[in-house]
Amino acid sequence: MNHSQSLFETAQEYLPGGVNSPVRAFKGVGGTPIFIRRAEGPYLYDEDHNRYIDFVCSWGPAVVGHAHPEVVEAVCEAAAGGLSFGAPTEAETRMAKAIRGLVPSMERLRMVNSGTEATMSALRLARGFTGRDVIVKFEGNYHGHVDSLLVKAGSGALTLGTPTSPGVPESVVKDTVTLNYNDPEDARRAFSEMGERVAAVIVEPVAGNMNCVPGTQDFLNTLRSLCTEHGAVLIFDEVMSGFRAALGGAQAHYEITPDLTCLGKVVGGGMPVGAFGGRRDIMEHLAPLGPVYQAGTLSGNPVAMAAGIKTLEIISRPGLFQRLEQSTSYLAQGIRDRAREVGLPLQVNQVGSMFGVFFTEQDTPVTSYAHVMNCDVDRFRRFFHAMLAEGVYMAPSAFEGGFTSITHDEGVMDDTLNAFSRVFAQLKR
Ligand code: PMP
Repeated sequence: MNHSQSLFETAQEYLPGGVNSPVRAFKGVGGTPIFIRRAEGPYLYDEDHNRYIDFVCSWGPAVVGHAHPEVVEAVCEAAAGGLSFGAPTEAETRMAKAIRGLVPSMERLRMVNSGTEATMSALRLARGFTGRDVIVKFEGNYHGHVDSLLVKAGSGALTLGTPTSPGVPESVVKDTVTLNYNDPEDARRAFSEMGERVAAVIVEPVAGNMNCVPGTQDFLNTLRSLCTEHGAVLIFDEVMSGFRAALGGAQAHYEITPDLTCLGKVVGGGMPVGAFGGRRDIMEHLAPLGPVYQAGTLSGNPVAMAAGIKTLEIISRPGLFQRLEQSTSYLAQGIRDRAREVGLPLQVNQVGSMFGVFFTEQDTPVTSYAHVMNCDVDRFRRFFHAMLAEGVYMAPSAFEGGFTSITHDEGVMDDTLNAFSRVFAQLKR
């Protein structure tokens, strides 16, 4: 038994399933999760002293690589000045300025402690602002474990085969409508039936929780105009795509202005942070200015702000994001080429520093939930373990996308592509 296996056994004596978030348990791929000892740049090091090139990047946050010296320094400096005050700090305004500088639609914003908190709060605000109850979401999109959104949710819930969770009362989801992703006609139909009751449409503009599936321009444009026409709030859940699909998020990539945006992951640079924000008139419905209640003891925490501010500063440096995008394209194209060389059918999606590999016979780009669900999960499992044996850590689920960082340079990408070649040759057999 190696060290990870024995740590996992002990963990299961204390934590349900041995983990604090389900996807980490390797249920989707089988086997024992790797226990991480430390990480640096593009690499993870496990408790058995193995090194892996990391394409999970903490599920997104590690866009400047792990333990970036400038981020670590900023965090240590902030920590030395006190961990939490529960009173305003200048750092919170600096964070808000940095976010608004990159995502101008967030005219006013509020910091929270996770992506889930961001989406939960944005929904309450949208309902409070419009005085309506119905929320529209899309199959295969995941917005955190918010009760009212655990309806045909993606991510861990999909992997575990429990699309709706016990513990969520029927009464809580009765106002949640789930439509087909990338299907503008479905959205038009729903709005023509109940447009005046819709408080908000929440969407991942680049879906990162049914592997990586970019929204189509037509689909997202349609959502924008339907919301405007019917007085509903358009919420872009950019917890994953924020500072990844483009520096300004998916809304910059598609040139669409949502009413509210949810952020997480990158915005905290690896600390537990989320944010939501948008139109000033909507945001000013929040307490203390308005009647919609939302609060948090640790929200805007000084150590978390330091990590996030430094991370945003680094990725904003001239040319850096373009290089990140280019190296991710290089990887995506390399994967396609290596698969073609051995005659292995697959599709690769990529937007900015997000990508997804799909084992599918279908010779068309993956744009729908149905197509994702038709991919070969068994082949993915074999692929995942073979890559792990090659020292490459991919997301341990066929329904999760991949992430890169500015430390994944050409040398790292070439090492990865050579591993892909060897693994593809095995998979063909
Ligand atoms: N929205 C999206 C798009 C996400 O990908 C996630 C997490 N993967 C969340 C919300 C929830 O964020 P958190 O896990 O920080 O609560």
